[in-house]
Amino acid sequence: MILKELLVPKRLLAASALIGRLPSGHKQYAVIEQEFLRRLAGWHGEQQAAYHLDQSSLQHSYQLHNVRLTFDEQIFEIDLMILTPQLVVIAEVKNFTGTLQFDPVFKQLIRISGNRHEGFANPLLQADRQRRMLLKWFTARHLPLPPVSYLVVIAHASTVLSTSGKDTQIGSVVCHAEQLETRLAQLLVRHTSNWADDTQLQRIGMMLLTEHQEATGDALTRFNVAANEIFRGICCPICRTFHLERHYGHWFCASCGRKAKDDHISAVLDYFLLFGPTMTNTQCQQFLCIDNRYLVSRILKQMQLNQGGNGHGIGRYYLAPPHEFFHQHYTLFRQRTSR
Ligand SMILES: [Zn+2]
Repeated sequence: MILKELLVPKRLLAASALIGRLPSGHKQYAVIEQEFLRRLAGWHGEQQAAYHLDQSSLQHSYQLHNVRLTFDEQIFEIDLMILTPQLVVIAEVKNFTGTLQFDPVFKQLIRISGNRHEGFANPLLQADRQRRMLLKWFTARHLPLPPVSYLVVIAHASTVLSTSGKDTQIGSVVCHAEQLETRLAQLLVRHTSNWADDTQLQRIGMMLLTEHQEATGDALTRFNVAANEIFRGICCPICRTFHLERHYGHWFCASCGRKAKDDHISAVLDYFLLFGPTMTNTQCQQFLCIDNRYLVSRILKQMQLNQGGNGHGIGRYYLAPPHEFFHQHYTLFRQRTSR
């Protein structure tokens, strides 16, 4: 059972929103584009792992994707967590292509692509740190301590895996996504006794969900972009210009002639991704380039955004919708614009 679904990462969406709103000559454009591509590849890798897990016959388990927890003011993020009555498995998902060489002596990961050798942080050490942090998290909450195993899942079957030594641990921990089911079965066979029953698993799963903290912070600061450097307005998804006009309840693109009802949704979501989780009516007017507070009220009401703050006017603000809303809009948006 999936307790926390795999959703398109907000940092990927934020990088995408920023690329769409910056001139290609901007000094930070290449850096942001690189991060966008890296996160997009990571997202595709996690989708691969989720697909193979979904196809597996794993029973009596609870699965959580992208859990971000805090222990002792330190944040640890787990790509995939599988709670079973016998053990907990955490997986670090990687989307590397080419040939990966795991060096057991220097604990380093080297990617070889043509003549190029690149060093990366060792995912085994990352996964082991998450395992230790998760056990501390369990201990602090006086929960029964599960056996925790970790896997490093390489998304693509075409990625060549190799190791320069005779370290058998690497072979038992690192696997391709398509082997995920087999590896999980092998781990389960080795753990015959139960550390928790179904009720306890459910309770712990709900605790993990409650304590999961979404990464916040605005993308503009992170990428060192000034607010006045980005394009404002509602973007036409076809011709990517920002010249939309309001015509009888629709947005009309003066450049390509497109007419649509809900093009403002992407712009509102862009605001939350770029500036942070709250937005006033005035901020929305300025960002969407709409000189009409009543129209802004109406479209935000249609989006069913929750409100915070005091009073009726200036002290009120809108709150970003849940992550699921971003995910659904992104999926729908991709379907529509790829037609
Ligand atoms: Zn257009």
